[in-house]
Amino acid sequence: MAKICLCLTGKTLSDNLVLLDKYRNYIDMAELRVDCLDSDERFLIRRFPEQAGLPVILTIRRTRDGGFFNGGEGSRIAMLSRGLAYAEADKRNNFAYVELEEDLDVPGLEEAVRTFGTRVIRSCYDFDSVENITGKIKKLRRMGDEIAKVVVTPKHLKDVLAIYRAGRENAGIEKIILGLGHFGANTRILAKHLGSSITYVSDMQTQEVPISSATGQISPRDIVERFRFREINAATDIYSVVGFPLIKTFTPQIYNAVFRHEKIDAVYVPFPAQDHLEYFLELAEELGIKGSVVTIPYKEEIISYLHMLSNDIRITGACNTIKAVYLADKQKKGWNGTNTDILGFSESLLHFMNRKNFRRQKITVIGAGGAARAVVSELFRLKGKCLILNRNAVRARELALRYDYKWGGLDSHALDTMERYSDIIIQTTPVGFFPAINDDPFELYQFNGHETVMDLVYNPFMTVFLKRAQAAGCLTLNGFDMLIRQVKYQYQYFLDRDFPDQLIPRLAELLQDKDTAQKL
Ligand code: NAP
Repeated sequence: MAKICLCLTGKTLSDNLVLLDKYRNYIDMAELRVDCLDSDERFLIRRFPEQAGLPVILTIRRTRDGGFFNGGEGSRIAMLSRGLAYAEADKRNNFAYVELEEDLDVPGLEEAVRTFGTRVIRSCYDFDSVENITGKIKKLRRMGDEIAKVVVTPKHLKDVLAIYRAGRENAGIEKIILGLGHFGANTRILAKHLGSSITYVSDMQTQEVPISSATGQISPRDIVERFRFREINAATDIYSVVGFPLIKTFTPQIYNAVFRHEKIDAVYVPFPAQDHLEYFLELAEELGIKGSVVTIPYKEEIISYLHMLSNDIRITGACNTIKAVYLADKQKKGWNGTNTDILGFSESLLHFMNRKNFRRQKITVIGAGGAARAVVSELFRLKGKCLILNRNAVRARELALRYDYKWGGLDSHALDTMERYSDIIIQTTPVGFFPAINDDPFELYQFNGHETVMDLVYNPFMTVFLKRAQAAGCLTLNGFDMLIRQVKYQYQYFLDRDFPDQLIPRLAELLQDKDTAQKL
């Protein structure tokens, strides 16, 4: 079973011990990165395993492997020897593992560490390519008791696919395969599906999303609480979200919290993608992904891969949810799709306004993208009259003409008409979404206080646009309620079971307060 290993990159040993204590409940072991220590601290590493009180990997990473050690190999070997010297009969006081690179050859040191039960992790770092991981693993395992570790930096989903294929090809071999960066974060969460014996986590500043978009790193707490690492195994069902950049999506937090609460053996994982969707569908087949949320920029492209389209997709030309199905011959798998934004939106706004339809309501929709298409189709079905404003006025026109609605650009010319279409204003662009939280989609418009204003953005809960509306006295609704309602439909579509409605208020708290996760 894969262990959770905290990378200790503090400048002093005492800093590292503080970190260990902070995360002790979430981890199984730690890696002491001696290359990150101040130079005088490097002389004091020998007693660290005993002080740490859990298994520790001794690592001195060179700059060429992505670390900070830039001295000669002689001094590095001397430092490794210092850490491994005076081995004690009580193995808990020795380093449990030492990481040695593929090109390092110090038979005397290796023999000595084996005698005292320290295991060798033989590593190889390739930041340029993910090719031939299987060949690398074979080459790395010089002795049967070594753990081969291959670290790569996937740059596309095609690379991620190569990593999981290598995992399958090397099933049964004790190994660690780690994908770095934004595209590789899933290899940390799915280490058990990949067959890795260790997954690495790091201390991270509190942030709004559980995975660092720059490094792909995950905190010990997030891997355990948000991604349920301890509860999942290699046979756990995988659900996913595919899109780009996926740095602000809340769906992993929501789905994983619901899976935990409902005791469903499933995990929800983000797969950022910047290439053809075909690679995602191949990856989905490789991993046996049961269902996926599809978001920007793939909501239209996915349609050509679907076996069966729902009517919602036909109306909007966009699909945000796909589910793996067996085709008629039961041999081949395919994908069915639906669009849950539609009902999520109308249910949310009707509920908020305590209405059954939008008859006699004059409504401005800002934006003309995929979400706007879902919104406008529902406003039409429910008898509203609309003005559609978009940065690119041609797109506003295209959408408006389908329904015989009014349209315009997002500029001062629109203001007069907008005054007449201001019972409800619905903001459907991503402007104001985290991290650009100070952006306003239509600064020129001054609220008069009588409008009901909905912003589809849900992170942050209160956008600058909604703050302005609220300050003017408008009733305001953010995108969270719509998000939850459309997730509810997705969940029913994926799992053929009802969503636990009683969780909804708690989910809102969860997304605003990290401490709530464990309480769900
Ligand atoms: P999309 O298809 O890419 O459309 C984006 C729309 O926003 C286009 O109309 C685009 O105008 C406009 N836009 C983008 N950047 C802009 C800027 N800087 N200034 C003015 N307009 C800008 O995206 P989508 O699928 O419609 O999603 C839009 C937003 O809705 C996203 O933030 C998404 O997270 C949110 N959403 C929320 C929910 C929910 O449940 N709450 C559900 C679905 C979507 P141009 O045509 O001029 O490029």
